[in-house]
Formats: sequence, structure tokens, C-alpha cells
Amino acid sequence: PRILAIETSCDETAASVVEGGKNVISTIVASQMDIHRRFGGVVPEVASRHHVENMTAVVEEALVSAGMDYTDLDAIAVTSGPGLVGALLVGVNTAKALAYAHDLPLLPIHHIAGHIHAAELVADMEYPAMALVVSGGHTSLIYLPEEGAYETIGETRDDAVGEAYDKVARTLKLPYPGGPEIDRLASEGEVSIDFPRAWLENGSYDFSFSGLKSSVLNAVHNAGQRGDTVVPENVAASFQASVVDVLVERAQRAVSEYEVEQLIVTGGVAANRALREAMKRSFPSGGNVELIIPPLSLCTDNAAMIGAAANISWKKGERAGYDLNGEPGLALG
Ligand code: ATP
Ligand code: MG
Ligand code: FE
Repeated sequence: PRILAIETSCDETAASVVEGGKNVISTIVASQMDIHRRFGGVVPEVASRHHVENMTAVVEEALVSAGMDYTDLDAIAVTSGPGLVGALLVGVNTAKALAYAHDLPLLPIHHIAGHIHAAELVADMEYPAMALVVSGGHTSLIYLPEEGAYETIGETRDDAVGEAYDKVARTLKLPYPGGPEIDRLASEGEVSIDFPRAWLENGSYDFSFSGLKSSVLNAVHNAGQRGDTVVPENVAASFQASVVDVLVERAQRAVSEYEVEQLIVTGGVAANRALREAMKRSFPSGGNVELIIPPLSLCTDNAAMIGAAANISWKKGERAGYDLNGEPGLALG
């Protein structure tokens, strides 16, 4: 099927036309990053308002650049959660109006299923698979025994990894969003500080990043009080080394215990260069498990990934009514 997918769960207004869950015919992302930067983070009310302003043009552009109109489409898909409620509602209401006006089926998609199935746009997914989702709101290990089935085997007990990046960046007085800034700084620094790694109890697949975050904040604060110079490059590199160590260890253990065919590393933080390199070293091509890391533009929020996930919903016959609502805490699976 040809699906028009819409994504507005956070601060990207996005629309895409995807065919068969694989072929991206068009993809448009209007980021509000520059707007939220001056507030140091995403302001929900501001995000909703800009989604309203951008939505129509973004959908139009997705269709125009696909060279299509509504008669060429088979369904409308939309992220129905999780995310910011006001932001989600803009996408959901747009999708409902379009589905009604053009008599097309409406497919509600889980944002994290979208991040995972971004993999489908660059490779053929094989099951069982393991997904490591590292983003602004999630740090999760999700086991996929078969297509369309999701079992969360581990998740963060406090901060999401992207949140930790953004907070550490703020401490280093870097602009929002901090992840790409830390990425850049770290590549120029050395791992000179031994920050903690939260391994948690034996056998756990959960994550915890608040301890690490606090250590970084304390180290920077204490150095400032003593009048010592803080080398931001080294702080960034040391923080990142701790994050990457934990993510790689958890992924290795999960992949071997669950004997999966593929490991998918996805979500905004999967754009991180050090993490990508470390994962590639740990899961070399030709090994037991195939590593899939979508390209940067498919790791951060976009609507093509929603179109990829929508293909599975389509096959399963999942359809929403016009009472579809945005669900900020929507569970996966
Ligand atoms: P969720 O997907 O959990 O609902 P979200 O959609 O807000 O949350 P994403 O847009 O998937 O999150 O990811 C955004 C996060 O990714 C931010 O915290 C940002 O700092 C981080 N990020 C983006 N690029 C990089 C990078 N190169 N290195 C590290 N972090 C990065
Ligand atoms: Mg975002
Ligand atoms: Fe996301």
C-alpha cells in the first residue's frame, strides 16, 4: 500500500509517503529546533502551536514532492503516542480529517515502533530481532520475536539517555539540543575522567543514567569552585565513553541471550558517532548477528519511519475510528 504518514509527537512536524513499508517516495521534516533553542529545551505549548502552523504545508509538500494526490493513496497513518499530548493531537486531528475527507483508512502508529521499523527502510528485517532504542524519552531494549510483536526487556529507571546528553550539554553551556554538540566536542577530547557506569543488579537489562549525569554535573561544578579549568572536550568524551560502554554491554548480553538474527540501534541518540562506531566494532559484519543502524536522518524523528511501521499495521488489519485520540503514555505492544 501507499501510505501518507504523519508525525508530530515532539518538535518535528513531519509527513512522508511510503510504499510497501520500504520505498520512501517523499519525506518532509520541519524541525522546530531553532525555535526551542532559545528556551533551552522543547516548550510543549510552543511546539503545539508550531505544529498547527506547519502541518498543512508539510503534508502538501510531501504529496507534491511525491507527485501524488489523495487518490494515489491507500491509507493515512499517524503517530498516536507516546509524546507531548498537545503535539500529538495536531497530527492525530490532521490525519482524522484527511482520512474522513478522502475516505481512507486511518492507522494509529506507536512512535517507538516507528523508530524500530526505520530499519526496514535500509535493510530487510529478520526475526527474532532485538532493538536498542536510544532517544530523548526512551532507553529501551525491545525483543521482537516476530513481525509486529514487541516485548520490552529493559528500560531506563530514571533519565533517558538523550535527556542525559541534553542535561550534560546544558551544564557545559552548549546549545539545545545537546546530543549533537556533545558528539562534536567528544571527538576532539580525551577520556580523562572515570565517570561511573550503572551496571545495576546481575542480569538486569534496565538502564540508569541519573547517577552518571549527577557525577558529570558535580565534576564540572567542583572544578569551577576550585578554579580549575574544565576541558569541555574531555568531559564530553568521558561522559560519552560511560554511556557507550553500558549500551554496548547491554546490547551484547541481550543479543546472545535471546539468540536474535538482527540488532537494530535506533532513535535520536543512535545518530551519535561514538555509539555507531562502538556498535560496529562489537557487531562486525559477517558475525552472528546483523547490526542495522539507520542513517542519521532516519534515527531522529521523521515520518518515513511511521510509514514503515504502518505497513505492518496495514497487514494486520489494524484500523482506527474517528474517535482516535493522542495518547501521551501509549504502551508498545
Ligand atoms: P522519543 O523518541 O523517546 O519519544 P524524541 O522523539 O524527543 O523522544 P528523538 O528525536 O528520537 O527523541 O531524539 C532526540 C534526542 O537525540 C535528543 O536528546 C538529542 O540530543 C539526541 N541526539 C541527536 N543527535 C545526537 C547525537 N549525534 N549524539 C547524541 N545524541 C543525539
Ligand atoms: Mg525531536
Ligand atoms: Fe523519537
